[in-house]
Amino acid sequence: MVTLALSKGRILEESIPLLERAGIVPEEDLTKTRRLIVGTSVPDVRLVVIRAADVPTYVRYGAADLGIAGRDVLLEDGGEGLYELADLGIATCRLMVASPIDEASHEGPRPWARLRVATKYVRITERYLAAQGIQADIIHLYGSMELAPLVGLADRIVDLVSSGRTLAANGLKPVEHVLDVSAWLVANRAAMKMKYEALRPVIACLAGERGQ
Ligand code: ADP
Ligand code: MG
Repeated sequence: MVTLALSKGRILEESIPLLERAGIVPEEDLTKTRRLIVGTSVPDVRLVVIRAADVPTYVRYGAADLGIAGRDVLLEDGGEGLYELADLGIATCRLMVASPIDEASHEGPRPWARLRVATKYVRITERYLAAQGIQADIIHLYGSMELAPLVGLADRIVDLVSSGRTLAANGLKPVEHVLDVSAWLVANRAAMKMKYEALRPVIACLAGERGQ
């Protein structure tokens, strides 16, 4: 049995057509079903549908042999115990620093205080700011980062941007590019040794010419 972990949300929407093109058709509509484990048209391949940030954990422990996860999630996780097999080229977006369009109309920046940066991506942001030589306090949030500058919680945010509409709707603009993001196919390291014959056709179907 080969278990493939899929990230809920944006990545799932773009993974379904990719799976279907690869001939791995889910037995249920993944966007509607309440089941967390779903079989496919390929007898020995099953899918688990989980939170994006949990995919590296399932794959690291071998609860899933393969996973599809954003580069943002993989970098934040550190990727220990995982092989990054192929960039699938789906769910593309950018990790950006954003700030209020009109700084003066907001409660920050506070000139005498350290810069405060709100993000879900604490490790990536720490590394990015350190590389820029910027001293800042990183405020860890789990979602709706756009709110933080509006209520004086942070001066800047680091968040994913695709169209920029969510930022604009909250009076923010992207100011610095941190990372290009897309979804990658990853594998458990031990499974690549022990179950390679079973994994190989699935990897070939999903990664196609993008695989190594
Ligand atoms: P969650 O709320 O669990 O973080 P999301 O659907 O918001 O789930 O994001 C899951 C993954 O989808 C992210 O880690 C990223 O790789 C990708 N993603 C998020 N936002 C976008 C976007 N605007 N455009 C494309 N991909 C995105
Ligand atoms: Mg989200």
